[in-house]
Amino acid sequence: MIVRPGDARYAELTHRGYNTRFVASPDEIWLVHSASQVEKAVHQAIAKNQRITVRSGGHCFENLVDDPQFRLLVDMSEMKSVTFDPALNAFAVEAGAQLGEVYKALYEGWGVTVPGGVCPEVGVGGHVSGGGYGPLSRRFGLVVDHLYAIEIVVADSRGRACTIVATREANDPHRDLWWAHTGGGGGGFGIVTRFWFRTPGATGGPSSLLPKPPSRMRETFVTWPWAQLTEADFTRLVMNHGAWHAANSTPGSPYQVMHSSFQLHSSLAQTIQLEIRMDATLPNTAKLHDDYISAVCAGVGVRPTIDIKEGTWLDIALEPTASYGAYSRQKSMGGHLRKPLTATQVGAVYRSLTDPNHNGVGLVYLAAYGCQINTLSSSARAIAQRDSVIKLWYANNWSEPADDAIEVEWLRTLRKNVHGATGGFPVPNDQQDGGYINYPDVDMRDPAQNTSGVPWYSLIWKGNYPRLQQVKNTYDPKNVFRHGLSLDPS
Ligand SMILES: Cc1cc2nc3c(=O)[nH]c(=O)nc-3n(C[C@H](O)[C@H](O)[C@H](O)COP(=O)(O)OP(=O)(O)OC[C@H]3O[C@@H](n4cnc5c(N)ncnc54)[C@H](O)[C@@H]3O)c2cc1C
Repeated sequence: MIVRPGDARYAELTHRGYNTRFVASPDEIWLVHSASQVEKAVHQAIAKNQRITVRSGGHCFENLVDDPQFRLLVDMSEMKSVTFDPALNAFAVEAGAQLGEVYKALYEGWGVTVPGGVCPEVGVGGHVSGGGYGPLSRRFGLVVDHLYAIEIVVADSRGRACTIVATREANDPHRDLWWAHTGGGGGGFGIVTRFWFRTPGATGGPSSLLPKPPSRMRETFVTWPWAQLTEADFTRLVMNHGAWHAANSTPGSPYQVMHSSFQLHSSLAQTIQLEIRMDATLPNTAKLHDDYISAVCAGVGVRPTIDIKEGTWLDIALEPTASYGAYSRQKSMGGHLRKPLTATQVGAVYRSLTDPNHNGVGLVYLAAYGCQINTLSSSARAIAQRDSVIKLWYANNWSEPADDAIEVEWLRTLRKNVHGATGGFPVPNDQQDGGYINYPDVDMRDPAQNTSGVPWYSLIWKGNYPRLQQVKNTYDPKNVFRHGLSLDPS
């Protein structure tokens, strides 16, 4: 089905993006149901010289989809089936499915899951292509560590669209195309219509081919009020948190069963929160949980409130993501930390979060990383970061278009102050380990913003960049699929 301006459905379909700072304005939206329909869309885009883009879950933070340059938008949202495919002995997930739909179908059907992101509304199409981590990743690795194959529509050098199935099998001639979709990012190689998942080395029936999540999960919110926090308290909390993660994130740690995110909201939001999600079924669940909270709180005068709840794995996994309401305009940037933020960096965070002139809701999000994630080599998947202990995400949210420039600048100032010693970005070194394509920031590509001396693609993919470049040259030589953070053919 093709929806054009004037159609009653056009407004809804062009406003599907998470970040309302960007809205699509294509001439045509193709709501597709099969790879052959996607092929037709790609064929037409090439024949008519229309810029083409693709949306799955719509949770992109940047304007990689919602931008006036794109005239044909392929919307995958009706391709969302989750089935077991005996032919490939793997679970087939269509690219338009949302993570919550995948978790529900895999768990209710077979008692298994993939260790994907925390937000059930995120789409598989972008999330998996970019590498994908979540609350079970310290135990089971990244979502792409379980990716077996993709079905993708690409465009060849003669402008013909074709569909390829690329697997991780060593003798597959398209293996590098599979590999590019284990962290190389969406929208820069072709349009993925289907992903297949099977854990490497897994054997037996479908119920033993992917990880089994815990039957029950504990979810805890530890909350501190900004009104009572001094800079010394704040610094101590963040340093305690960092030191704990540096000490408890090696593969095989007893703490691989626990995920947490330290959500340092700006003082306008009134509180900062530590969210914990962990296996509730272990004999030592309570001890691990309490010891972690004690370690983060050590030496801090302010007593937090602690709210604990337990539920089935699905209850917790399907909880809708907290919304910022009208504060839906956004700017963000993310990366990886091998070692915790230093006291100087925490001081920079504090100054930004308590800036009295700031009217947006800022967030420094420190997510638990490491453990099983760090058992693979840097080159095993396209996502190269395999010895970090914290995933970092900076965000700012606001409501008024008139505030765009000032609010974007707030985020930039935070980033530049925290990473001032390395040109304003978490350049790979002893402490930091570069960016994350699923937390995209087009500033990385702007020489006025990125003064680190490290090109944007090395910031994200490090040593995996040349191989990704080769995939781009082979499968998209005419650069049909491109956006602000995709590779150009060389
Ligand atoms: C609220 C929220 C929570 C998040 N939580 C997590 C988290 O816990 N863990 C994590 O790792 N990430 C997380 N993310 C980041 C998320 O993984 C990325 O934003 C991801 O790219 C979104 O995928 P999508 O399909 O929803 O987005 P879209 O906006 O549809 O697409 C994102 C990019 O992928 C491309 N793309 C989409 N579909 C396809 C396809 N079928 N084929 C090829 N390219 C495609 C698009 O063109 C675009 O470049 C979160 C994001 C948000 C907004």
